[in-house]
Amino acid sequence: MSAPPVSATVLSFEDARRVVEEQAALIQIEVQAGGRESVDLLAAPGRALAEPVLADRDLPPFPRSTRDGYAVRAADLSQIPVTLDVIGEIKAGEKLERIPANIGSGQAASIMTGAPVPTGADAVVMVEYSSQQGKQVELTRGVVSGENVVPRGAEARQGSVLVDRGVRLNDAAIALAASVGKSRLQVYKRPRVAVLTTGDEIVAVDATPGPTQIRNSNTYSLSAQIQRAGGQPVLLPVAPDETQALRQLIELGLRSDLLILTGGVSMGRYDLVEQVLSEMHAEFFFTGAKIQPGRPIVFGKCDPGVPTREKPVTYFFGLPGNPVSTMVTFELFARLMIEALAGQSPSKVRFLHARLKGDIRIKTGLTRFLPAVLSGEFENSEVELVPWQGSGDIAATARANCYVVLPPDREKIPAGEWVPVMMR
Ligand code: AMP
Ligand code: MG
Repeated sequence: MSAPPVSATVLSFEDARRVVEEQAALIQIEVQAGGRESVDLLAAPGRALAEPVLADRDLPPFPRSTRDGYAVRAADLSQIPVTLDVIGEIKAGEKLERIPANIGSGQAASIMTGAPVPTGADAVVMVEYSSQQGKQVELTRGVVSGENVVPRGAEARQGSVLVDRGVRLNDAAIALAASVGKSRLQVYKRPRVAVLTTGDEIVAVDATPGPTQIRNSNTYSLSAQIQRAGGQPVLLPVAPDETQALRQLIELGLRSDLLILTGGVSMGRYDLVEQVLSEMHAEFFFTGAKIQPGRPIVFGKCDPGVPTREKPVTYFFGLPGNPVSTMVTFELFARLMIEALAGQSPSKVRFLHARLKGDIRIKTGLTRFLPAVLSGEFENSEVELVPWQGSGDIAATARANCYVVLPPDREKIPAGEWVPVMMR
């Protein structure tokens, strides 16, 4: 069967990214209606929440002292120093019956951090500004009403949403879930992401390569990236540069929630990925992006031809085979689809900024993501390109800890300028 020609759609970086964001938003709605599972709180970091976490009571549940000191009426301290009667001691977790019912004018209670501030008191004076003799305390600094006290419910009201559905659980979200008694959480299922690397020259990691053969590294970098993005890699055998076998493996890969191919998307005679997908009536959103590395990246969707499957189409990326291109294009585009398939609300790409250490000269026309080292410390972060041999140079990229992002319209960027940096 001859392939219908694929019309080339090469987009700017921003436009390509927007296309992926749009599809990710559609997917996320579908995913959020679908599969979820219950996991132990300890296994939940990095998963996307499938149920909102609600406050089971007011937070804090009582007016909480943020200092060790004395609970007082602020108005009693208008003249300093002042001596007050100490009518009790309140430690964190104190039994209710041991807490003074009221702090009257001229009275104070010794109080510890995290303890409930009793009725009548409206502030806490730090212990550093006190000296207690028996049942009396002299205070040497005034307070304003509310000082060192977090009112009941100030952080959250009972029943309010603390962490919403679709949020990827980070350490603070885990702490919040624990604080409201959620020892298990409903999360979305991890998407299965098929990895299909192509190329006659590619051999297995534990094989001894012939003089012109290359070991398969992309499957491994992708597998690491997929797991970090919240997906479950499904590793397929390496596809040869031959249409029949390639098609069979693509059909297998389309049974997963997402298919990521590497290699075979450039203009070479044996770059067959687009041709085969086109024969399978795939829809292509774009077949290139004006970026370096990674220009030939392909994004589309295809009917997996499995009628019993819940999802009508499977999205795929054809990432260029050069190892650095594979890594960069994954970060720029594929990660977002995995996050959406994992139930996460789509995020925007955001860059940090650092001061450039040396001049950069480049040709215009492409947005570049070049391996670089971010160094310095505190407010003096600086960034410098790693010398490299192009997008096949894994060794240079392994020495880097970030990518410098260079716009398509400037030939020279002078040392000292603040440039965007994508962390890796
Ligand atoms: P391609 O995109 O198929 O033209 O491949 C571009 C370059 O990437 C070639 O030098 C390939 O040998 C190399 N390459 C492709 N796939 C892999 C892989 N899985 N691991 C390491 N290098 C690869
Ligand atoms: Mg190839």
